[in-house]
Amino acid sequence: MSQPSYEYPHVEIDLGKLKENLAALQERCQASSIGLSGVVKGFHALPEAVKVYEEVGVSSIASSRMDQLRGLKEAGIRTPLMLIRIPMPSEVEEVVTWSDISLNSELSVLRLLNEAARSQGKIHKVILMVDLGDLREGFWDWDELVAAALEVEHHLPNLELLGVGTNLGCYGSIQATPKKMHDLVAAAEQVEKAIGRKLEVISGGASSSLHMVLDGTMPPRINHLRVGEGILLGSIWGCNMDFMHKDIMVLRAQVIESKVKPSHPVGELSVDAFGRTRTYVDRGHRLRCLLAMGRVDYGESDDLIPREPGIKVLGASSDHTILDVEGATRRLKTGDVLEFDLCYATMVYLTGSKSVHIYYKKET
Ligand SMILES: *Cc1c(COP(=O)(O)O)cnc(C)c1O
Repeated sequence: MSQPSYEYPHVEIDLGKLKENLAALQERCQASSIGLSGVVKGFHALPEAVKVYEEVGVSSIASSRMDQLRGLKEAGIRTPLMLIRIPMPSEVEEVVTWSDISLNSELSVLRLLNEAARSQGKIHKVILMVDLGDLREGFWDWDELVAAALEVEHHLPNLELLGVGTNLGCYGSIQATPKKMHDLVAAAEQVEKAIGRKLEVISGGASSSLHMVLDGTMPPRINHLRVGEGILLGSIWGCNMDFMHKDIMVLRAQVIESKVKPSHPVGELSVDAFGRTRTYVDRGHRLRCLLAMGRVDYGESDDLIPREPGIKVLGASSDHTILDVEGATRRLKTGDVLEFDLCYATMVYLTGSKSVHIYYKKET
């Protein structure tokens, strides 16, 4: 497994597997007349990977961050771009310049977007968000929602009211259920009644809404989802998608020290590198390895998933990861390379770390 031409640590993204996951999900969404926005913030919108979304033909490409969308436009991505974090008042010019669609919940910001679009001679599309209980973004009061929709429709000529949407399972851990989807359709219908036309988009959420597409319980009027994590991991809490690859990305890191040491620290205990009081189990002398990467690169060491059996992640400081490898199937030594599977959190951090190299496995 030693791959001397690689630099470490690195994440390798298998673009062929990514494409197969995307195509498999796209097909299932299309069968339910659901448009798919590919959410690419999970890997910092790396353009080489985003190109795969464009090849598969997702209806739009989405990120919560303006700088990522700008990078994609500059990299030549031509699929419509959607900003899925409601805009800061201070970034409306960039929103109109670099994205085609944005999610919104503040009338004051919609007015600023309209001004920015007018000065750039553009029509910017907006989706109004409805908060159905997860308590992050969105209109809570439906009268306020309808009033904002009416103002966009009749008084903000450089905005196009594309539809309504919701977000669940992010802050409040609220499940996306058919009941919540029916509530969203009811909100959409109130807006439609007020403006006197049908809305083009009713956006029923993120990966956490996919289970309803797969088991046939998604109400027919929901016609759009914004999916990130589900495509990248091939599963989501409570919904394992057996038709998808689970190993699109792999992390590889190199061993920089391999020694037998006591498992309990020696001396008087105080606090760790992050000021926390910790406890240590004394398991006698064990073979331990240090890896040249740390919490600055991936967040929490508990989130690392070693691919080889018998390897336990003991902990980490900013730049070092400490492993117990006594039970490994090979005697690990300095220079060896270990592989890890990623969860969503480690993926986000690693792909954004300047110290982590990114490699692409191309389709074969
Ligand atoms: C991040 C995000 C998504 C995608 O969420 P996943 O769980 O990765 O599918 C969708 N919509 C909004 C508003 C988001 O912030």
